[in-house]
Amino acid sequence: MPLAPQRADVPVTIDESKCIDGCTLCVDMCPLDSLAIDDSSGKAYMHVDECWYCGPCAARCPTGAVTVNMPYLLR
Ligand code: SF4
Ligand code: SF4
Repeated sequence: MPLAPQRADVPVTIDESKCIDGCTLCVDMCPLDSLAIDDSSGKAYMHVDECWYCGPCAARCPTGAVTVNMPYLLR
């Protein structure tokens, strides 16, 4: 099995190239505090692998950097 370049099995992935330095909107929106800003990169990332798939993190991101990877069973 080939190695994946990025974990695709986490509930929410963030495109760091689109994430704006200093923005914390998705972190602020998440009811589970699953997202955080990485201290070194200044970009958002999923630091707790827990998610309700409720969507405001992706909906509020001004650049569309957040992708909620819906499990097939919930679609
Ligand atoms: S979908 Fe909801 S629970 Fe999951 S990371 Fe986004 S805001 Fe948090
Ligand atoms: S809302 Fe978008 S731009 Fe803002 S911190 Fe989250 S991923 Fe980055």
